Amino acid sequence: RKSVVRITTGSQALDELLGGGIETLCITEAFGEFRSGKTQLAHTLCVSTQLPLHMHGGNGKVAYIDTEGTFRPERIVPIAERFGMDANAVLDNIIYARAYTYEHQYNLLLGLAAKMAEEPFRLLIVDSVIALFRVDFSGRGELAERQQKLAQMLSRLTKIAEEFNVAVYITNQVIADPGGGMFITDPKKPAGGHVLAHAATIRLMLRKSKGEQRVCKIFDAPNLPEGEAVFQITTGGLMD
Ligand code: ADP
Ligand code: MG
Repeated sequence: RKSVVRITTGSQALDELLGGGIETLCITEAFGEFRSGKTQLAHTLCVSTQLPLHMHGGNGKVAYIDTEGTFRPERIVPIAERFGMDANAVLDNIIYARAYTYEHQYNLLLGLAAKMAEEPFRLLIVDSVIALFRVDFSGRGELAERQQKLAQMLSRLTKIAEEFNVAVYITNQVIADPGGGMFITDPKKPAGGHVLAHAATIRLMLRKSKGEQRVCKIFDAPNLPEGEAVFQITTGGLMD
């Protein structure tokens, strides 16, 4: 039996909201508007995953699938320094791939699974999980096929999480809620419909606050305590 590992986000408040950090063996989704901090959390996790277990890390390598071209290796350097790690060693342990179509994204996952069988990985990032689907299936009448392919991709991610005891961190976009109206104060919801809602074990809703301050809330989980975590985005990654 594999035992769950919890990886620090860099923010104690956010870790507490998550019950200790981002968990292995399942999918954690973050959604929120542009600049809400989804990619910055990904960068911080790239480093913290490599910390030893007693420092709330995962003692493992990281796989990063980037569909939007927003990974910045130079951002890793000050984050590694903040955690007292050697930046070059940290960068060497991040396996990075840019995906250009949803099929490419899927094939990258197949290749990664082979790699994970040989080397100790503890985190897989897909930033964003849905962007390419929204481009590749943008036509009217393509929604059913899109959702079917998305389900296939998510089931592959779940399998990787369970087989290799890896934390899967995916990002998602917000879309206008067509059911929203003048009586709904925030007519925004995560993209991906029921398919994504069922695949993600934990859904984090991020929003901007003052300056570099951000707020995270757990979305749609009646079994988890209500609450918010406030954190800052800094040069050294997420912090309280
Ligand atoms: P998302 O992926 O949700 O669109 P990001 O994670 O890219 O958003 O967040 C971008 C924000 O992160 C920027 O608007 C800025 O506020 C903050 N940020 C990015 N880099 C730094 C940095 N080096 N120092 C402080 N804040 C930063
Ligand atoms: Mg982003």
